[in-house]
Parts: sequence; structure tokens; C-alpha cells
Amino acid sequence: MQLIGWLDSIGIRLNNLTITGGMSEKRTHRPEDGSAVGQYLVDGLLKNVQEQGIPLFVNAKVTEITQNDGKVNGVKVVFNETDEKNITADAVVVTTGGFGSNMDLITESRPDLEGYVTTNQEGSTGDGIKMIEALGGTTVDMDQIQVHPTVQQEQSYLIGESVRGEGAILINNEGERFTNELDTRDNVTAAINALSEKSATLVFDSGVKSRVKAIEQYEKMGFVISADTIEALAEKLEVPADNLKATLDTWNSSVNKKDDAEFGRTTGMDNDLSTAPYYAIKIAPGIHYTMGGVNINTNTEVLNKDGEPITGLFAAGEVAGGLHGQNRIGGNSVAEIIIFGRQAGIQSAEFVKANK
Ligand SMILES: Cc1cc2nc3c(=O)[nH]c(=O)nc-3n(C[C@H](O)[C@H](O)[C@H](O)COP(=O)(O)OP(=O)(O)OC[C@H]3O[C@@H](n4cnc5c(N)ncnc54)[C@H](O)[C@@H]3O)c2cc1C
Repeated sequence: MQLIGWLDSIGIRLNNLTITGGMSEKRTHRPEDGSAVGQYLVDGLLKNVQEQGIPLFVNAKVTEITQNDGKVNGVKVVFNETDEKNITADAVVVTTGGFGSNMDLITESRPDLEGYVTTNQEGSTGDGIKMIEALGGTTVDMDQIQVHPTVQQEQSYLIGESVRGEGAILINNEGERFTNELDTRDNVTAAINALSEKSATLVFDSGVKSRVKAIEQYEKMGFVISADTIEALAEKLEVPADNLKATLDTWNSSVNKKDDAEFGRTTGMDNDLSTAPYYAIKIAPGIHYTMGGVNINTNTEVLNKDGEPITGLFAAGEVAGGLHGQNRIGGNSVAEIIIFGRQAGIQSAEFVKANK
């Protein structure tokens, strides 16, 4: 079944399309009110889990996947940091996410990323990868780590790409644009890192603010600088007011002509930036997503060094590697976790039935 239709059938409606870096068309599905997809998706999935009476454990750290006679037969779990238990199972599906918060694992393959902040929560440790490797599972693309260009540095907080998708531009310390803001994440990151300040500022108007609900959250967190005029915004940002005014005039004329002669941007240009008040958020790049992970096949079975499935072991989501190649496009992780998560559920249930 088609992903968006299946989500719709369980009450999760992603019927608003926006655009993110590297896309030529609006392809990123989000909730109707333009809010960020993650929280909405998790709330909807959790509601379904609860309605179906599926047991959930919290404060439960899995430390080992157990095996008997070459077949996976359960996990060891430590509850509340003290109470270790073995849970038996006919199959195990690993969905422990990526390793974007594990700086040791990151710098093992990418020493150049030492010192970067991460947008990931502290549970993105790569535990699942290590537990699967202990059973002979293999990994792919471990050095392919995505750095996101727009991260609020003090709180390591992602400023979503829909801000640019809905029209924001990036400026340097001189109040000037320096790149196509909706190029792929690696290229925008490289453009920011090429600036002497290695950081930049997102600038947008109240039109963008009304189209991107997440900006309300950024405001609550104190990230958003606002002013009634471009000159007043320039003063707050300590950039030359004449430059910022000229930058916005040129940009607005490019939007109206649908031709960005300066940097060749072609997307996120439905609306110009001309409706006061004006806003800004200071950003720099941060680690965001780990494209590498364990090797699985299309049935989500985990593969050993001979390319054979490890009996009873499945994995899905960011813990698995190889799907996105070198550069994930925004929105594709939601597609991955729903398609492969659902596949893992179907395949592991069929495996259990067939082996009863
Ligand atoms: C700020 C932010 C915004 C994003 N926005 C988007 C977006 O708009 N669109 C998009 O497509 N993608 C987005 N992504 C990427 C996407 O959210 C992730 O790739 C996705 O959540 C991965 O899902 P997952 O279920 O594989 O793992 P996760 O969501 O990371 O869940 C894994 C869970 O396993 C737990 N865990 C780990 N180890 C253990 C252990 N040993 N025992 C027990 N539990 C364990 C973790 O704590 C975590 O709760 C975003 C990522 C971030 C950080």
C-alpha cells in the first residue's frame, strides 16, 4: 500500500507539501497546518499502539540480543538502570536509530567532524549497530554522515529546512547572500564553512513565519530576532543596513522574475520577503543524520558477512544503512522508517508464523 495512503488510513494526515534542499519540486509531506512532521507522526503512531493494546516499556535499555543454536531468541534489558531481565522472543526487530550522538563512533570514521554540535537526541548512540555486529551482522557506509547547514548552536537545535523552503534566505556578516539556500545540505554546509565566520543568518518575513508553524517554537526558545523594518533588523544583527536592504531588494526582484541571477536558486521562490515584521535566526552546521548502518535486505533481514540473513533478526530505520547513499534528502527518513518499519513488522510476523 502507498505510504501516505496507509498513514491516512490510521488517522495520520500528511496532506501539505513543501520543498527542501536538493529538490526540484515540492515533495516533502507535512501535516495540514504546516507544523513539523516528527511530533505529529509520533503522536499519531503512539495513539494507534495504545488503541491496539501493544505493550511498551520505558526506562528500558537493551544491552544484548541473545541467540540459541544460531537463531535469535530474545534480548537482555536493564530496566531503570538496575534491574536486568531476559525477554524471550521468536524474532527481534532492531529500531534503535542512528549514531549521531556518539562522537566516538562518528570520529572513528570521520575525524573531521570533531567538535560539531549534533541535532540528535542522546539516545542516538548506535547501540543497535554494536549489538548486531556482536552477532556477525555487517555495516555499510559508516562514514556517510550528514551535516545539516542550519542548526542553532547554543542549544544544538535544528532549524528545519522548510524555513528556506517557504522562502527564507541566508546572509553572511556583510548582510549579503552567499549561496543557493536550497542546494543540497552538503553544498550549503560547505558554503557556510567557506565563510570566515563559519556561520550565517537566516532572514525571513512574516509571510514565511505564517507558513512554517515550527517558527513559533523557535520563538519560544529565544532563537528569533525580530524588527519592524529591515534597517532595525540590520542594526540588531550588526550587519550593514544598506547591504541588507540591497540584498532583500535584489532577492525580491529575483523572486518576482523567478530568476536568481546571483546563485541560480529555482525553488522556495513562491513568495518574496516583503511583509514586515522581519525576522532572523543565527545558525551554523551540525551533525544531523547517519546514512550508514547495518546491512539489511528488502525483507529487512539483517545480513552477515556472506550476505546471508541472521535467523530471526530484523532491522529498520536509521539503524540500517545504505538506502540514502551519500546525502539524504529532507523527508526521506520519514519515508524510510514508515516503509521499512512496516515491512519489518510484516516480515518478522510471517517469519514467526512460519517457524511455529
Ligand atoms: C531534529 C530532527 C529533525 C528531523 N526532521 C526530519 C524530517 O522532517 N523528516 C525526515 O524524514 N527526517 C527527519 N529527521 C530524521 C528522522 O527523525 C530520524 O531519521 C528518524 O527519527 C529515525 O527513526 P528511527 O525509528 O529509526 O530511530 P529513532 O527515532 O532515533 O528512535 C530510536 C529509539 O531507540 C532508542 N534506543 C537506542 N538504543 C537503545 C537501547 N540500547 N535500548 C533501548 N532503546 C534504545 C533511542 O533512544 C530512540 O528512542 C530529523 C531528525 C532530527 C534529529
